[in-house]
Amino acid sequence: MKRLVDSTTGSHGNVQPTGCSDPGFSRTVIQWQKKHGRHGLPWQQSKDPYRVWLSEIMLQQTQVATVIPYYHRFLVSFPDVHSCALASSEQIMAHWSGLGYYTRARNLHACAKRVVSDYGGVFPSEPEKLQALPGIGRSTAAAIAAFSYGARAAIMDGNVKRVFARVFGIDGYPSSKPVEDRLWQQAAALLPETGHAAIQAYTQGLMDLGATVCTRTTPRCDVCPLTKRCVALASGRVDELPVRKPRKSTPTRQVIMLLLVDSTRCVLLEKRPPVGIWGGLYSLPELAWEDGKTAQQLHKKIRKAAQPYADVDGVVPLEKVSHGFSHFTLAIHPYQCTLKREGHLVSEDSHVWYPLHQIRNAPLPAPIKKLLERCDSVS
Ligand code: SF4
Repeated sequence: MKRLVDSTTGSHGNVQPTGCSDPGFSRTVIQWQKKHGRHGLPWQQSKDPYRVWLSEIMLQQTQVATVIPYYHRFLVSFPDVHSCALASSEQIMAHWSGLGYYTRARNLHACAKRVVSDYGGVFPSEPEKLQALPGIGRSTAAAIAAFSYGARAAIMDGNVKRVFARVFGIDGYPSSKPVEDRLWQQAAALLPETGHAAIQAYTQGLMDLGATVCTRTTPRCDVCPLTKRCVALASGRVDELPVRKPRKSTPTRQVIMLLLVDSTRCVLLEKRPPVGIWGGLYSLPELAWEDGKTAQQLHKKIRKAAQPYADVDGVVPLEKVSHGFSHFTLAIHPYQCTLKREGHLVSEDSHVWYPLHQIRNAPLPAPIKKLLERCDSVS
């Protein structure tokens, strides 16, 4: 059997693909993908690395159905890596607004600039070089290289981890180092040996199986091509594998947000720092929440904070909004402030008065946009 490399460990500590340890596994996945897998997704219609890369970044932590309209809109505005690199960060963030995990958008922009400056606008074909670019992890690098260039590289995203953990009966939390190492080794050993088309169908097949058959809560073992091989099914452990992440209780952070809406129906937006949650996006001005304050004390505090931007006429508390992040919950206490006149001129770098009726185009995080859309529809 042909060996592609002598060592099993590459320069980045990655397991390098060797000969295939079980050709029947990849054959089964490929045959199933051709017949039952997904073939009509927008990004499957092209091998253009820019489109493949864009889709892979958008699909990290986001469902296909959510990504599709964002993907189309992004390509209309930025049809290639050059236009993406030349865009302003506000334009990129506005196109990402609502998709969540905004670090992805900042890294995407940085990556486009690097591809243009370091590679003349052509994405490299080697997974190691792709992995060195901003926002591209090991599995994403392998997917881009496989789909765009037919590279023989193993992927291991959340869906594939689940399929492998069940089929091979792998115990332990899949994102812990020893379990993840084992999964990567298994994935590298199972790569098909021949042909661009084979690696593409195999990579897509694993993704499709995880997304459409071997799902987290309702796996469809009756239609799965891996039924005969599946250790979890044979041992009655489908519900137990993959092992869930050990639960930690997440803290709640409380904050006051000000909806300053002036007489021309513009709302004051504040640019967030480039790093941290919602980094680089616009949001509402914030104040620290203090337990035990009376309504009168709160209103006084809000009027004082708003003073540089507007003369506040009335202050009305709105319904509390909660938004979950991976490591904490943000409890937002929104206060709508009515103003008799136009808002004061503000520094363009950090604040802007934005027309409420155009709020859907603003580079805002989803919960803030929803809050403002509601405010526009009721006031
Ligand atoms: S048989 Fe069931 S549990 Fe096993 S891989 Fe297929 S869908 Fe998943």
